[in-house]
Amino acid sequence: MSKFWSPFVKNLVPYVPGEQPKLTKLVKLNTNENPYGPSPKALAAMQTELNDNLRLYPDPNSDVLKQAVAKYYGVQGNQVFLGNGSDEVLAHIFHGLLQHDKPLLFPDISYSFYPVYCGLYGISFDAVPLDEQFQINPADYAKPNGGIIFPNPNAPTGCLLALDAVEQILKASPESVVVVDEAYIDFGGETAIALVDRYPNLLVTQTLSKSRSLAGLRVGLAVGHPDLIEALERIKNSFNSYPIDRLANVGAAAAFEDREYFEKTCRLVIEHREWVVAQLKAKGFEVLPSAANFIFARHPQHDAAGLAAKLREQGVIVRHFKQERIAQFLRISIGTPEQNQALINGLGQM
Ligand SMILES: *Cc1c(COP(=O)(O)O)cnc(C)c1O
Repeated sequence: MSKFWSPFVKNLVPYVPGEQPKLTKLVKLNTNENPYGPSPKALAAMQTELNDNLRLYPDPNSDVLKQAVAKYYGVQGNQVFLGNGSDEVLAHIFHGLLQHDKPLLFPDISYSFYPVYCGLYGISFDAVPLDEQFQINPADYAKPNGGIIFPNPNAPTGCLLALDAVEQILKASPESVVVVDEAYIDFGGETAIALVDRYPNLLVTQTLSKSRSLAGLRVGLAVGHPDLIEALERIKNSFNSYPIDRLANVGAAAAFEDREYFEKTCRLVIEHREWVVAQLKAKGFEVLPSAANFIFARHPQHDAAGLAAKLREQGVIVRHFKQERIAQFLRISIGTPEQNQALINGLGQM
């Protein structure tokens, strides 16, 4: 705190990202990064781009990447918005499309960045409780609102909402923008992008950070009706005209074009997730059904904070949220088979 801070800054409550430890020996299962590297074709494309052209600004519209994304999802270029990670895309969405008199709705247990954006942009919100099984109940969202946002699969629970339930939410609030944050959709869900042509109030966000192993590159996107995309372009061009740098433009485009590598690595993560779930259940854990690259689990006889501390001593980091309702859960990212084995070994006899 300093006398130079504005009252606005004094009152901000920022997001706290998962730890990025400097020690490389640690088995890092705390921030849902992909255990496999990016597509070799994406790396090669970026290496080629690493040249004297870096003195020039990138294409402000990222046309090449936009076309690659549009082609992949079978939509038009003007239905695609790109940003510096989907966190930035979400920030522009909150700023430009979710700031209304009525409260924004999102699940009480959800991505903890949502209330932070509400604080940043002065948006009132109403946290809608997940049901007893930690599931989203679409009927709970059929009430007056200034917008709706939820991750699908949800984070940190990993639970998937079926596409017809997503549609039920869209139908009940035709006058509001409904944002489906699909950061983890490629690990077992079906994207709602197929619905954008039928629902002009639907906006779907995705990221290259999880299923495409490019968290370090910072590229995220939104797909929706051109009118929604235009609002986001207006915000972007009033904030930073060049959010996607030259390396990110070519690397992300190549990652979308390399379907084979993408599908193979997603399959491996799903396969190893099922192994981790079985091992944890054998130790007495209760594991929520996951369609993501992480699982959310609790043990009836062991305190979650204690387990996280014990794992850390064994060199394995997982995420624990000191939050009501989920204080006894651990969120554990799926790693390589070796990392997953280190997790199971670290838990020891229970
Ligand atoms: C990881 C994550 C994001 C942000 O991803 P970036 O593209 O890396 O900014 C957004 N939403 C949810 C639910 C996430 O878990």
